[in-house]
Amino acid sequence: VPELPEVETVRRGLDAEVVGRKVISVDVTGMRTVRRYGPEALVAGLEGRVIDSTARRGKYLLLSLDGEDYLVIHLRMSGQLLLVHDPSLPLALHTHVRVGLDDGRELRFVDPRTFGEVFVSGGIGDNGLPVELGRVGVDPLVDDLTGKSLAAMLAGRRSFLKVALLDQHLIAGIGNIYGDEILFRAKVRPDRRSGTVTSREAGRIARETTTVLTEAVGAGGSTLNDARYTNLMGEWGSFQHQHAVYGREGKPCARCGRPIKRVRLGGRSSFYCEHCQV
Ligand SMILES: [Zn+2]
Repeated sequence: VPELPEVETVRRGLDAEVVGRKVISVDVTGMRTVRRYGPEALVAGLEGRVIDSTARRGKYLLLSLDGEDYLVIHLRMSGQLLLVHDPSLPLALHTHVRVGLDDGRELRFVDPRTFGEVFVSGGIGDNGLPVELGRVGVDPLVDDLTGKSLAAMLAGRRSFLKVALLDQHLIAGIGNIYGDEILFRAKVRPDRRSGTVTSREAGRIARETTTVLTEAVGAGGSTLNDARYTNLMGEWGSFQHQHAVYGREGKPCARCGRPIKRVRLGGRSSFYCEHCQV
């Protein structure tokens, strides 16, 4: 599942490759992908528009269109955005939207599980972001996530710490992989109750959040064996080789050598070291 580093890697690819390009055709075949406003709205909102700039908020990709609207893309479980140099190349299975550009290339949205979305925003809210994003939380690489602000978010919460870190209304962009890696580096267990996190621990978690996500962006994100995530050119990320705990149940902890544990929190697996994390 793409998280902040994977989405940021795709954004950087779009920034380098499609900014300044005009959309000349839009072809929709996957109705679930455009479920929010329908296929006609996507075609009408996108055709003839110039992509001015790119942005990202949490796991949302934003492409500014002629400085007025945003094309919003959310990859969700299995969405993938590919830039194809030759539109006559065969379509990958589960290709739902094709966007033809004025340089002859084509953007393709591929999504086997169809939870992903592509739409032109219905308006911009007070925060300058598309209204559909609602109250999206602090983005650790766009905004300033401090120990103090994190401590304030966690104070009084009964939820597991890992579940709070994945709450997109608090912090936008962290998912199951990076949540585990951040907490390992911060030396705090994922099954702690959020409200018990001290200000010192919150400081470490905030710092490691920025560090881990920045390192992962530098590595082009994480591609697991299902290969559901690639960059715009179809290439894998490499941060999976640096995972210290995620997916490593029973393997030795890199710090202390004891076996990594797995626990289910909020319906999902979390990995941690019970010796190194308190
Ligand atoms: Zn350990």
